[in-house]
Amino acid sequence: MYKAIGYAAQSATAPLAPMNFERRSPRADDVAIEILYCGVCHSDIHQARNEWGIAVYPLMPGHEIVGKVTAVGADVSRYKVGDKVGVGCMVDSCRQCEACNADLEQYCLEGPTQTYASKDRVDGSITMGGYSDSIVVSERFVVRIPEKLDLASAAPILCAGITTYSPLKHYNVKPGDKVGILGMGGLGHMGIKFAKAMGAEVTLFTRSEAKAEEGRRQGADHVIVSTDAKQMAAAAGHFDFLLDTIPVQHDLNPYLQTLRFDGVHILVGLVEPVEPPVHSANLVTKRRVLAGSMIGGMAETQEVLDFCAEHGITCDIEMLDIRNINDAFTRVVAGDVKYRFVIDMASLKA
Ligand code: NDP
Ligand code: ZN
Repeated sequence: MYKAIGYAAQSATAPLAPMNFERRSPRADDVAIEILYCGVCHSDIHQARNEWGIAVYPLMPGHEIVGKVTAVGADVSRYKVGDKVGVGCMVDSCRQCEACNADLEQYCLEGPTQTYASKDRVDGSITMGGYSDSIVVSERFVVRIPEKLDLASAAPILCAGITTYSPLKHYNVKPGDKVGILGMGGLGHMGIKFAKAMGAEVTLFTRSEAKAEEGRRQGADHVIVSTDAKQMAAAAGHFDFLLDTIPVQHDLNPYLQTLRFDGVHILVGLVEPVEPPVHSANLVTKRRVLAGSMIGGMAETQEVLDFCAEHGITCDIEMLDIRNINDAFTRVVAGDVKYRFVIDMASLKA
């Protein structure tokens, strides 16, 4: 065991505060990592505040982790000390079920071990995330950061990136497809870039006219202000795919109506009951599909990093001093960040 420090919430209503704790000594297949940067995902806020009802305290968030390898276990073959690596939302899975064997560890039949607030499969301890100076993870759940990528702006690819890339890939988005991205936050702004790189004609749905110009700068061909019923109605029957990153309950019906027949509405933001209810006529009468997607497997997480390096795709980040993490949470909830906070872990040592 060795000493570590990080920021954790002690309860659903407590702000994050510094906490000393211990990381395990590397097991045979483990990589020990000095964390340099960690992105701030809206999921971190949902979890710290127990908005999904599955939090375990103390809860140390952080699953967009980038750092340097400081030690490796005896059986590690893929990484060596000094390598630049990343860790995303999972740190383990059963490794033998149908999903794991299909490189879909996120859908492990036993449930993957999350990077934080999850029970370690070996010793039963509760996992602590990346708002900290170090982490120890099995090499199977570590990815390599391509040389070409800036380390800080690569961090959000580990969650915001893979979560938007994976469904677009799964549904085979191709040149000419009409794709709508719902919400332009951390996930949404990456969704625009990926859909564009896949050749789609991309439309941003945003609540505010104020973000229209920004949306175009991110690569959107068109912008629809979702609060304007006229603009929504004018888009009826238009889209092949909608990628929905909105983090709160919202009426899906007006969005479903913008899909053409066989169109697919993919939820990634909402992990709550759909409210108000979906009117099934919006599905039935056009053979539309309402779908969901969760992050991506480890092989695909490496793939998206390589895709970003190849296509020159990066996240737009605002560097954060970890001492300001609670203000940052407030700003994320208010939609006041362009488009991802990334903690500079040097500030933890300060
Ligand atoms: P952000 O807060 O950065 O972005 C969400 C965007 O949604 C906002 O920028 C805003 O866009 C829009 N939005 C926010 N509030 C509302 C509202 N009340 N009504 C309508 N639109 C709203 O969040 P992230 O991008 O980090 O995460 C998005 C969601 O995805 C979160 O719920 C997160 O937990 C989830 N998530 C899911 C994953 C998965 O595997 N499925 C993985 C990672 C995250 P605008 O201002 O343009 O309208
Ligand atoms: Zn996330």
